[in-house]
Amino acid sequence: MSDVKPISVKQLGAELRARRLSVVELLRQTREAIAQSDAEDPPLNAFLSIAGDELSEEAEALDRALQAGEDLGPLTGIPVALKDNICARGLPTTCASRILENYVTAFEATVTRKLRAAGALIVGKTNLDEFAMGSSTENSAFGPTRNPRDRERVPGGSSGGSAAAVAAGLVPVALGSDTGGSVRQPAAFCGVVGLKPSYGRVSRYGLVAFASSLDQIGPLTLTVEDAATVLAVIAGHDDFDGTSADVPVPDFADSLAAGAEGLVVGLPREYLRHDMEGGIAALCVATAERLESLGAEIREVSLPHTEYAIPSYYLVANAEASSNLARYDGVRFGLRASEAQSATQVYRLTRGSGFGAEVKRRIILGTYGLSSGYYDAYYGRGQRVRRLISKDFEDVFATGVDVLFTPTSPTAAFRIGELIEHPLDMYLSDVFTATANLAGVPAISIPIGEVDGLPVGGQFIANHLDEPMLLRAARALELSLEESPLDAEAPS
Ligand code: GLN
Repeated sequence: MSDVKPISVKQLGAELRARRLSVVELLRQTREAIAQSDAEDPPLNAFLSIAGDELSEEAEALDRALQAGEDLGPLTGIPVALKDNICARGLPTTCASRILENYVTAFEATVTRKLRAAGALIVGKTNLDEFAMGSSTENSAFGPTRNPRDRERVPGGSSGGSAAAVAAGLVPVALGSDTGGSVRQPAAFCGVVGLKPSYGRVSRYGLVAFASSLDQIGPLTLTVEDAATVLAVIAGHDDFDGTSADVPVPDFADSLAAGAEGLVVGLPREYLRHDMEGGIAALCVATAERLESLGAEIREVSLPHTEYAIPSYYLVANAEASSNLARYDGVRFGLRASEAQSATQVYRLTRGSGFGAEVKRRIILGTYGLSSGYYDAYYGRGQRVRRLISKDFEDVFATGVDVLFTPTSPTAAFRIGELIEHPLDMYLSDVFTATANLAGVPAISIPIGEVDGLPVGGQFIANHLDEPMLLRAARALELSLEESPLDAEAPS
């Protein structure tokens, strides 16, 4: 194992501004740490590509600017990684798929543009489940990423490369995408912070679409403060994304400092009664007690349609995926089967050899759910149930609840190979996270302790566009856990 120590954006920024560390040196260390993490046996495999020489020039320019006392932005000189379904001009965007293996994009995602404008160095692209479909990063066409805490285990998914890169200390920030839990669940498995903003808070322009009514981009970081810093950079309305909300981006600094006193925290009983590893339930109960000791009011609440979240999510997500992935036809992007003799063969052979098994399964299921005669029974019903799930959240927030607290995932990181042959069990990984995507509300996972040496995440969920409340609760808990961790209190 490498001996890199993870350092937050805040600390690293202070080092760079005080000129105790140069951007050039930091970039060199970052590259070395990434190479080292892949030279070990077995390799971490968090990154699929690394930016080339142009980055060294950028680093030199940033050093000159810092030397001259120019403040370029909150991420000046900070190495940032992007999940490889987020476009950065001139770098590959493979989505961990053979079908886009050699695709180098001419697009720059809005989040990438904003990160660069805030001074960030985009160091490379991270591994994921193919087209973000999965919960373990084992569906990557380029080999699984491993969990830095235990390399025989998965890092979670689908943003597993991003979570592993941050947890291993290779970069202090990586972006992921979250359609049903893909930022929060890997954050929980790797012991870092993962934030899924409200639907509409962050532009998806330049994010390769999986399920457009659910997808959001969010940061993986070491601390809640860092998550707030990155969110402030990437959030905001964008003319290139018609679904981005045209509302001001709040200043999160005040909310971070507001503490838990007076917060009304709802504990949804459907989540806590769900089957999960015993130690996780115990840690969640201990977390609720801790929040209460910090001055929060704890209320048991009900989100009655929770049990239908997974079926609803997989009907809606697969239907949208089958439509979004129709564009990989061998004509416009990436792979084209060279042996094809006709247009139909171009489609069939390209898609047949380019997509992996899970992606094919979803396209087939999604197409079926949308087909005439079945539309109403599948896609239509999935959407109607989705509406009920959203209403559960509206109702509970209307009673004066500020945030909800739940486990992030019913298990800690499982072993590589353990669930890959059991897609339905793998899908259950999202049981606590997919609801927030269906309802469009913001949610965050933060580390709350460990069970058998593996990290466990706790999730806060807030009302639509109420990221300040979400971050307030998460920061208050994080600070308290830093002072005194929960492990000792949780019965094993
Ligand atoms: N694990 C879920 C799925 O496989 C969520 C994926 C995601 O959020 N991108 O669809």
